[in-house]
Amino acid sequence: MTSYDTEVLVVGAGPVGLVLAVDLARRQVPFRIIDRRTEPTDESRAVVVHARSLEMLDILGVEDEVVASGRTTTGVRFHADGKELAHIPLDTVDSPYPFSVTTAQTETERILTERLRALGVEVERGVELIDLTQDADSVTATVGEETIRCRYLVGTDGASSAVRHHLGLKLEGSFKGEHFLMGDVDATYDLDTSSMHINASSGAGPIMIFPMIGDRVRIIAAIGQADHGRPASLEWLQRVCDERGLEARVRSPRWLTTFEIHHAQVARYRTGRVFLAGDAAHVHSPAGGQGMNTGMQDAFNLGWKLAAAVAGTTGFEVVLDSYHDERHPVAAHVIKETTVMTNGATVESKVVRVVRNQALRLIAGTQFAQHRIANEMEEFTVAYHGSPIVQQGVHGHVVPGDAAPPVPGTGLWSAVADVRRKHPSDHVLITLHAEPVSIPGCTTLVVDDPEGKIAGRYGVTPGGAVIVRPDGYVARILRASEIPQT
Ligand SMILES: Cc1cc2nc3c(=O)[nH]c(=O)nc-3n(C[C@H](O)[C@H](O)[C@H](O)COP(=O)(O)OP(=O)(O)OC[C@H]3O[C@@H](n4cnc5c(N)ncnc54)[C@H](O)[C@@H]3O)c2cc1C
Repeated sequence: MTSYDTEVLVVGAGPVGLVLAVDLARRQVPFRIIDRRTEPTDESRAVVVHARSLEMLDILGVEDEVVASGRTTTGVRFHADGKELAHIPLDTVDSPYPFSVTTAQTETERILTERLRALGVEVERGVELIDLTQDADSVTATVGEETIRCRYLVGTDGASSAVRHHLGLKLEGSFKGEHFLMGDVDATYDLDTSSMHINASSGAGPIMIFPMIGDRVRIIAAIGQADHGRPASLEWLQRVCDERGLEARVRSPRWLTTFEIHHAQVARYRTGRVFLAGDAAHVHSPAGGQGMNTGMQDAFNLGWKLAAAVAGTTGFEVVLDSYHDERHPVAAHVIKETTVMTNGATVESKVVRVVRNQALRLIAGTQFAQHRIANEMEEFTVAYHGSPIVQQGVHGHVVPGDAAPPVPGTGLWSAVADVRRKHPSDHVLITLHAEPVSIPGCTTLVVDDPEGKIAGRYGVTPGGAVIVRPDGYVARILRASEIPQT
């Protein structure tokens, strides 16, 4: 028998490592989390927490605090040359949280760290991963002066990941880079504060505005390569706002910086016993605010799989492999979409800009398209169809691999969430009939469905059932004949 110092070592306590840590802690998986920084970062970085992430944070027990720390945002408005081109309401998404929250990444990290502490785990700070090796049974990590032998190691150590480096992997993609000026400031401005704004006016490049709590606002403006490295200042930010037709008076800077973004992804998320998640695995433009959200969802996808592996659940190798199968395409899609968005927003040609503006007005002018764009932004188009661990060949409104949707007026989402919180490592077997059924590894949830709304939404035939995974995605939709009788 191999003996381990800990089952899982999480390297990096940014938002992604913290989500994984909270998820492992509530599943009572023995693990350690280290970070080379002696103090948490004071850079506010990612400010948008999307609806899908709020659902996840609810299961982790911190959604209400995250909402309270920021501003609830119910729409995105696109502007050009003084005119509003499109408004995408976010409240059409199929979620108990039909909105985004804008809050500083420092707040998200603080809340997750406190939750972790409440679960009895401290981030080990000032501890840097120096080296790692692995064999068939274990991973050996050199951290500071110490050697840690663990069953699995997860690199959540950001864009310049040491874990990735030690695996001999590289971020592959486009390194032409886009440059941005960014400010977290207080501001007076005449824009709807319940929406995020993307302004792509003539000539000067796009600017994005994210109203935050109180007078605080995040402004991100694309800048030319020649300006990169120039010291960010309030005066420069003000000038950029003026040049791009944003009538805003900025003051009280909290964080001003310039930064460069690449679009790149690692080819493999799993190498033996080592996994990569978050910026260690993928980097992209801040357009759409997907970076941190995609990373946190990586962690949430991996948490229950690691728990299953540590518990020695039958078939856990396939389950672990499915982490790459399910999450790699998600970031690849985000990279594609954010590249299109950034290119679209930064077009220089007047003719192309006119065509773009008309196309945007037309496309985003229908409710169908607005719903589709909102779903995309809030990460509701993420699904794991074709994954080796979800059932294939079922076609209906809900397909295995979809996130289990709420059914309005039935209380289904809260009932499933309650089971997921109380029995974090189990799948949820939803049955619409009172006869007791049970499947190993599942907690059974018997729900009343007098009007057939749940059966209709999920395509459940009489006597059938639905199996929802610990991360809230549908694993199987079963007919009565497929359910073992007790
Ligand atoms: C200037 C800037 C602005 C951004 N703006 C946005 C935005 O508006 N919207 C958005 O969605 N995203 C934005 N991002 C990206 C977002 O911040 C990241 O996607 C997010 O932080 C990724 O989280 P992570 O946990 O993967 O990595 P990180 O947050 O980078 O955390 C990695 C952690 O690992 C630790 N670490 C690193 N190496 C080691 C080691 N060898 N040993 C131990 N610990 C180690 C680090 O100290 C750090 O705490 C921005 C990023 C930057 C830099």
